[in-house]
Amino acid sequence: MNFTEPPESRRVETGEAVAASVAPARKVFIKTYGCQMNVYDSQRMGDALAESGYIATEAIDDADLVLLNTCHIREKAAEKVYSELGRIRQLKTARERAGREMTIGVAGCVAQAEGEEILRRSPVVDLVIGPQSYHRLPDVVRRARRGEKIVETDYAIEDKFEHLPAPDRAAVRSRGVTAFLTIQEGCDKFCTFCVVPYTRGSEVSRPVAQIVAEAERLAAAGVREITLLGQNVNAWHGEGPGGHEWGLGQLLFRLAEIPGLARLRYTTSHPRDMDDVLIAAHRDLPALMPYLHLPVQSGSNRILKVMNRRHTAADYLKLIERIRSVRPDIAMSGDFIVGFPGETTADFEATLELVRSVRYAQAFSFKYSRRPGTPGADMDGQVPETDKDERLQRLQALLAEQQREFAVSLVGRGVDLLLEKPGREPGQQVGRSPWLLPVIVDEKAGEIGDIVEVRITKAGRNSLHADINRDAGH
Ligand code: SAM
Ligand code: SF4
Repeated sequence: MNFTEPPESRRVETGEAVAASVAPARKVFIKTYGCQMNVYDSQRMGDALAESGYIATEAIDDADLVLLNTCHIREKAAEKVYSELGRIRQLKTARERAGREMTIGVAGCVAQAEGEEILRRSPVVDLVIGPQSYHRLPDVVRRARRGEKIVETDYAIEDKFEHLPAPDRAAVRSRGVTAFLTIQEGCDKFCTFCVVPYTRGSEVSRPVAQIVAEAERLAAAGVREITLLGQNVNAWHGEGPGGHEWGLGQLLFRLAEIPGLARLRYTTSHPRDMDDVLIAAHRDLPALMPYLHLPVQSGSNRILKVMNRRHTAADYLKLIERIRSVRPDIAMSGDFIVGFPGETTADFEATLELVRSVRYAQAFSFKYSRRPGTPGADMDGQVPETDKDERLQRLQALLAEQQREFAVSLVGRGVDLLLEKPGREPGQQVGRSPWLLPVIVDEKAGEIGDIVEVRITKAGRNSLHADINRDAGH
């Protein structure tokens, strides 16, 4: 797995095998679509299957078990899954001709949303399992191998995290020096364009002790940077010591005390849940990296209202001002939707205006995609595809310009880099900057896992180049 990919990979299909360890060797191939939460879930599924003897393979045609961990956030994501299942049907047939079995499973949000429909549309599928049931995966796979067709999409009452096995040290190590840790799932916000509240259910926060234990385990295995994940991560809350209610800010202060853990991040946040303690964490915690992904979706108050975002453009800008006043070097990232029902040219211009005043270092922008079952899907004023295309192009051109400006502004600066892996060229190393941008060092700067100071020499299209900062400390 490649943790150093730029965050665009959140929404790009990533073929990925998850490390597992125990023999006898039945092989599992897990393909992950969508966001980091799915990457984390795939790892946990791999951990659960490792306990029943599955090892990971990156060769799909060599797999006894193929799992597609799907995303349902936009239309094309589900269609991609169905076409992938068409290709897998041919592999399965070829394996069966050779006298070998292949069990096919669909997990993730498409599984949750479509359920039985998947078995109907793709009879090649043996099991469908929703995100709340992953701890049951080994049993579900056993039953599927005996010929049962299974749809397991009930919201389990038991806490899946209590039942999912922890990965062993070697598995953690094999995944690199950065790791994801899901602390919160689901959403109660019900933005009118979004399927998450329906596919992932209502907001659930993991308990403090469980999160701290998992972070300590990761750090003890050599992980230097943890990204806390949640569909609405800053809505996380839990009971701290003495029965006090904690929010994400307090949790970050606690996690920053873990020995060996040098860097913390969190994503994805909702503007309404950025409270004072969380902003103070950005001020006071050197371990909390100066990068904040804070989706706004639109710059038009009228559209924000119909989207049920419950904040205005001015609220959002004021919030960023507050965060920047305590952490001036923070790099802002955001999500945008163009062509939401009723969006006029003037509404879209308001989005461009907001982008101009924020100056984003990174951003993700999408054409509105009608999701069945969400209020937006039935709204009047659906915007023609050609208008969406044109607006997306204009928005992306502006965002690309700002990203370029941000990258160029780093040239000549000394930057702390977490070394993650060897580079493509001999002698090169790749590390992660505080602002998440990957940096290529053209010479050996240290060991993987070290944090070293480098000097940025060049801003390329998707990455920065650096050399060792020999002036550092002088
Ligand atoms: N919880 C986060 C927030 O409050 O904005 C976002 C989580 S959502 C999984 C990730 C992003 O996908 C959203 O911020 C939005 O920009 C995009 N998205 C969600 N539903 C969409 C839709 N129907 N069409 C286009 N983009 C969508
Ligand atoms: Fe979806 Fe985020 Fe809105 Fe929740 S807050 S409904 S996850 S966009």
